[in-house]
Amino acid sequence: QCPWGAPNTTSISCSLADVMSEQLAKELQLEEENAAFPEVVAVAEGPFITGENIDTSSDLMLAQMLQMEFDREYDAQLRREEKKINGDSKVSISFENYRKVHPYDSDSSEDEVDWQDTRHDPYRADKPTTTPRRGFIGKGKDITTKHDEVVCGRKNTARMENFAPEFQVGDGIGMDLKLSNQVFNALKQHAYSEERRSARLHEKKEHSTAEKAVDPKTRLLLYKMVNAGMLETITGCISTGKESVVFHAYGGNATEDKVIPPECAIKVFKTTLNEFKNRDKYIKDDYRFKDRFSKLNPRKIIRMWAEKEMHNLTRMQNAGIPCPQVVILKKHVLVMSFIGQDQVPAPKLKDVTLSSEDMKKAYCQILNMMQQLYKECNLVHADLSEYNMLWHDGKVWLIDVSQSVEPTHPHGLEFLFRDCRNVSQFFQKGGVAEALNERELFNAVSGLNITADNEVDFQAEIEALEKMNEDHVQNHGKKLSMFSSDGDPPIYDE
Ligand code: ADP
Ligand code: MN
Repeated sequence: QCPWGAPNTTSISCSLADVMSEQLAKELQLEEENAAFPEVVAVAEGPFITGENIDTSSDLMLAQMLQMEFDREYDAQLRREEKKINGDSKVSISFENYRKVHPYDSDSSEDEVDWQDTRHDPYRADKPTTTPRRGFIGKGKDITTKHDEVVCGRKNTARMENFAPEFQVGDGIGMDLKLSNQVFNALKQHAYSEERRSARLHEKKEHSTAEKAVDPKTRLLLYKMVNAGMLETITGCISTGKESVVFHAYGGNATEDKVIPPECAIKVFKTTLNEFKNRDKYIKDDYRFKDRFSKLNPRKIIRMWAEKEMHNLTRMQNAGIPCPQVVILKKHVLVMSFIGQDQVPAPKLKDVTLSSEDMKKAYCQILNMMQQLYKECNLVHADLSEYNMLWHDGKVWLIDVSQSVEPTHPHGLEFLFRDCRNVSQFFQKGGVAEALNERELFNAVSGLNITADNEVDFQAEIEALEKMNEDHVQNHGKKLSMFSSDGDPPIYDE
């Protein structure tokens, strides 16, 4: 009698078309999966991590993601166990060899394994127990040498225990199983290459993203960009801010319609609730987004930040203002050209020491850029300061424009005034004699002529203007088109 019982012989007849049908295959797979996991497990996810249109069709990608998670948990567990066993004993043992990333693997990418060199063979048996030293046992015609099939087979089976713990060897070790050399060697090789494969995957990930900085879905998104060849490698994190994380990447292959810069900056807008809340006044009152805001869930609003930055950068690019060039926008991830070189981002104006000549040059340039931004791009930066200006190639580059608004934004002029204050304070402190004060700068940029000679009155006039504008938008707002850079000029021009 067969030890595995009688086979279940219910056969389902089907046509060749069925067999070849991908659709059917998918359905069957789904059915199978549903049967295997009958209950939908409620996964604890952040409020914005769930998504209805997340592409989960790539099994390989998902498998890799899962593997990464698994490896990490696995290593963490090993570390815990190591700690538990060692306690505070003076002599400690190490599970290092069983980590998913081996110390001697992590800096090498070569695939070849030198099987002759047993010094580094982690599966080398310490002391083969079944063969005595002298190489044979027994007497006369009952003598068995170490080459005896049975003895050797048992020895091989015993050595399976030395495979990495996650390598499933079944319960062969407990049985009197005799593995031939050929089978054992094949198994050993497989165990080893599996180990190395997962180590490589691990390594790739370690080098690709600062994993803790982004959620799994974002990681998947980044992975895909690399997979698609758009990015060559993501080298690391440049900045972790409250609202965004910025990565550096080497650009990949150009497509028919797109040239990818050699170095890219990837800005990932953070998908957490708390931070974006402080910012919603920028977008909520931006009439370009007015119709959309009320209907949106927070995750979509995060995406809108990214979208906003993209549109604003494009406007600036068109006006010839030095700024990152947009490469692509995917959900809440914006890829743009990298300002800097060889992975080193250009320094912020606050971090660089300029000669007084360069300082003056920078000031003149910024005055120009602010005017261009206002008049040609119809934008107010709204977070302009030495933190968001980079010094590169002997000039100032503007970045971080996701919060930028049109001057007709209900608080647009207040934002502009704040920008002006930051800029003139920075340059006045920096010893630029030509630097206008904040009120002069405001008038120079906006073309308005607010005459108040003190800050309080000035601010009051600004707010009065905003109020007037608000009324105007109330009456005519519908006519203003979203995102148009060449739409109606700001009403104050009249
Ligand atoms: P945040 O809203 O977090 O301030 P930023 O757009 O200002 O976001 O980016 C944060 C930091 O990342 C910047 O201060 C700058 O150092 C770096 N950075 C952002 N974009 C680029 C870029 N295109 N090239 C080089 N560095 C960049
Ligand atoms: Mn910034």
